[in-house]
Amino acid sequence: MPNTVKKNIDIVIIGAGPAGSSAAIELAKAGKKVAIIDKNLNSPTKFTGNTVSNTLLYLSYLYNRLKTKTSYFINFCTENPPEPVFDLKKMRKYIENVSNKIFKAYKDDLEEYKVELIDGLVSFNSVQSILIQHSDKTVEEISFEKAIIATGSLPKTPPFATGKKFLDPLNIINLEKIPNNVTVIGGGFIGVEYATFFKRIGCQVTIIESRDRILYTFDDFIIKKCEEFLKKDGVNIIKGKTVTNIEKIGNKTLIFLDNEQIQSDEVFIAVGRIPNINHLHLDAANVQIENNLPLLNKNLSSCCNRNIYFIGDAAGKFMFLNWAYLSAEIVSNDILGKNHDENLFVFPKVLYIDPEIATVGLTEQEALEQKYNIQTIKYSFSDLEMSIITGHSKGFVKVIIEKNTKKVLGAHIIGKGANELLPIFSLIIKLNLEIDNISRHIFSYPTFVEALVDISSKIKS
Ligand SMILES: Cc1cc2nc3c(=O)[nH]c(=O)nc-3n(C[C@H](O)[C@H](O)[C@H](O)COP(=O)(O)OP(=O)(O)OC[C@H]3O[C@@H](n4cnc5c(N)ncnc54)[C@H](O)[C@@H]3O)c2cc1C
Repeated sequence: MPNTVKKNIDIVIIGAGPAGSSAAIELAKAGKKVAIIDKNLNSPTKFTGNTVSNTLLYLSYLYNRLKTKTSYFINFCTENPPEPVFDLKKMRKYIENVSNKIFKAYKDDLEEYKVELIDGLVSFNSVQSILIQHSDKTVEEISFEKAIIATGSLPKTPPFATGKKFLDPLNIINLEKIPNNVTVIGGGFIGVEYATFFKRIGCQVTIIESRDRILYTFDDFIIKKCEEFLKKDGVNIIKGKTVTNIEKIGNKTLIFLDNEQIQSDEVFIAVGRIPNINHLHLDAANVQIENNLPLLNKNLSSCCNRNIYFIGDAAGKFMFLNWAYLSAEIVSNDILGKNHDENLFVFPKVLYIDPEIATVGLTEQEALEQKYNIQTIKYSFSDLEMSIITGHSKGFVKVIIEKNTKKVLGAHIIGKGANELLPIFSLIIKLNLEIDNISRHIFSYPTFVEALVDISSKIKS
């Protein structure tokens, strides 16, 4: 092979996203010689799905509040006040800035802990070595003791979309014109978040979901409320129907469902994600993949090559940032010969839609399936002072309690302030606390967290 440079490093980490970076820092702190390789390390801006989506959700929220709520208390000096316009070019600039700051923070940390940063595209060469293709076409071969694959995930492409260009979570930043209407295919959390973005910036939005409900992993009560709120905001939800084909005709797109067709300016595809591992030549490393998923041991090492680990989205287990960090910790501990505390498996999730959804622990369905004797508490935000002051009084909290012990098994919140209450419920569940102890804490006024006092009194009665 031409221009091949060879070297040896204890631990190579492929992918400098949150999972890879956090594993690199843990291992470097413990004195290991670590290199992290990423194909986008030197690109001007490194966009990631969650940074793009959370930033555009934030910007569209501000825009929408300004457009719809200012008339409550702001008068304009002119008779015909100017209409605010959502500027897609400025949105892109803002997202670029945010992405650059976040990536710089990761890079600074890696440099501080003396992790070697290498720019290039990795593939496996053998059970103990990788090849790195640099942008100047030179190739480097590194042999390793342990390799950690943290290459993230890719959107799934349904057969009807193969080879065609539709909107997705990343290319949306190149959108040049706000479409009149958008059809979002897939009612999972990414689909529902982007549907909210499009609605906020003034598009007509349709969500198509093949299951009989959107957000199918969430608690039934929250899904019902969420559908109610989306419909009230004018989002059209088509459930239980499968898209069979999409055709572009001129500047319109025709979407074929089981027995009907709809027309749309733009189509956004969010039908799930798969680990981004197929390009790594993992067969050369004797790593087995089945249905696009790596076969893994409990410690996240490959079943067939215990020196190769998978973390973050690439492991194909969960696709959230908290899993990226947790899986990095599991693998670092395993390599360093430390035990891991299994109790960490409490996954809080938050969706910044209208209104916010936040969830942690078991849903009612899951608790019943696991044969818990449960009590459920429902609380409405309508009387909470913080909700009234901020004009966000539509919202509910549902708490699943173990009847005998009064321990919280799960908490599911829909309403502004959900993200404020969520970390407290996560701590209650993780530390096995009684809600009563927390609610007797003195909270500052006004806050959404004060809801805990009323929730606690409902549990006692
Ligand atoms: C639209 C969207 C919204 C999301 N919102 C949230 C949210 O609100 N909250 C949340 O917790 N999670 C969210 N997520 C999930 C979250 O973004 C991921 O779980 C997280 O980024 C995974 O981190 P990672 O390090 O595993 O992978 P990534 O962040 O994807 O990093 C993978 C890295 O690997 C590099 N790479 C890939 N292949 C190679 C190769 N062969 N050689 C060298 N380098 C390579 C890539 O350049 C990339 O830098 C969202 C995801 C999407 C798509």
